[in-house]
Amino acid sequence: GGGHEFVVVANRLPVDEVTGEDGQHRWERSPGGLVSALQPVVRQRGGAWVGWTGSAGEAPEPFDIDGMRLRPVPLSAEEVDQYYEGQSNATIWPLFHDLVEQPTHRRDWRRAYEAVNRRFARAAADAAAPDATVWVHDYQLLLVPAMLRELRPDVRIGFFLHIPFPPVELFMQLPRRRELLTGLLGADLVGFQGALAAQNFLRLTRLLAGLEPKDDRVEVDGRTVVARAFPISIDVAEVDQLTADPAVQERARQLRTELGGDRRLLLGVDRLDYTKGIEQRLEAYHDLLADGEISNDDVVLVQVATPSRQRITQYQQLRERVEREVGRTTGEFGDVGRAPVHYLFQSFGRAELVALYLAADVMLVTPLRDGMNLVAKEFVAARRDEQGALVLSEFTGAAAELDDAFLVNAHDTDDIKRGILEALNADPQDLAARMRHMREQVRAHDIDYWARDFLGVLGVPGAPPEARE
Ligand code: UDP
Repeated sequence: GGGHEFVVVANRLPVDEVTGEDGQHRWERSPGGLVSALQPVVRQRGGAWVGWTGSAGEAPEPFDIDGMRLRPVPLSAEEVDQYYEGQSNATIWPLFHDLVEQPTHRRDWRRAYEAVNRRFARAAADAAAPDATVWVHDYQLLLVPAMLRELRPDVRIGFFLHIPFPPVELFMQLPRRRELLTGLLGADLVGFQGALAAQNFLRLTRLLAGLEPKDDRVEVDGRTVVARAFPISIDVAEVDQLTADPAVQERARQLRTELGGDRRLLLGVDRLDYTKGIEQRLEAYHDLLADGEISNDDVVLVQVATPSRQRITQYQQLRERVEREVGRTTGEFGDVGRAPVHYLFQSFGRAELVALYLAADVMLVTPLRDGMNLVAKEFVAARRDEQGALVLSEFTGAAAELDDAFLVNAHDTDDIKRGILEALNADPQDLAARMRHMREQVRAHDIDYWARDFLGVLGVPGAPPEARE
């Protein structure tokens, strides 16, 4: 039965299935800032979380974890293909990232997307108490707000989009675009990563729905829908804990030694995704070596590229291109026992990432388009020593807040080269001043601030920070 005052709805439940030493399956809360920020809010209000477990087939019965009631939504294997990998990740994802890759438009994917969104809306409607608050997340569930409102006109509905919202001209390319907009307009509050995304959305309500947005709101069927920026952030306390850990600090020293003592370390940490600009970054690095601006004796690049969406063709092709470029650079500029690039197609835990952040001289964050980019904020949060430089793409949400970074046009390899050289040659005092400003920004706007801000505007007092575990 339902009866929850507060319900989070997201594609994924905040758990991973793990197999214990005894061979038994159990659920473990998944790591990540979003989950740590929402968990106290959900727990305090006796709330529920509606989402998918990550495996196709029948869903388990609702269960409790860390004071949250989890209500699994089932997806068939075909729905995983069509709703998740298809419409969400091969249509909406590339289009909302400014067509960095060509989206595929398929009627059967759209149909599955609608059916699954309806299932999520029903599950949320079943979970919610009278006049409850429901917070829906991200591009997999764009239709849910309107579907939920139809089922439950009494509930307060918030929606947050974690990725960019495209310019009107691009959104208009989507088949059935009107339904998607109507879906979002079912919410009382629509949150975006940045002001530009909110503006794009409000302009679209005029163009596509003939509405008259004013300031940050628009009237729809006698209701008010507010659209605003709520830049998401990171769990600063968690990063603080890791940077203070002697084992992490020791690991950072070890990494530096293993990479060749006095070489300057350039670092990239991304999911292997075509939005991340990994190819352009590798090309800029190759060209700097080729031009003799940097040398394999003095610098080394570590590129973490976490496996992602490997069943989608564009991701397989990207992997091949990236690996060819790594091979080219290694072949041309490497020495025996000393490689110019260390490419890691692997996923790392939080402690290892923070050790890498601490070891780095220059952090390279060069997406072609990114809603926010949390890696940039994590790097800044980790650098208690106020050392290290951040080269940051203008096309990330993070650039709006971290304008003391070395900002670059990530579509222009010459500009990436310039950014890297400026970062490498910067005066240490300048670097410290930049880092100090960026740290103040991130520390004052952590993930708890984000959740409280959103829920406050939605009319729900957020969880006080002391409630966190
Ligand atoms: N991350 C991780 N292990 C890895 C690579 C990345 O835990 O091997 C984390 C990283 O610390 C960050 C998140 O994954 O918190 C990536 O978030 P970001 O906003 O940078 O990009 P996204 O993958 O969400 O597009």
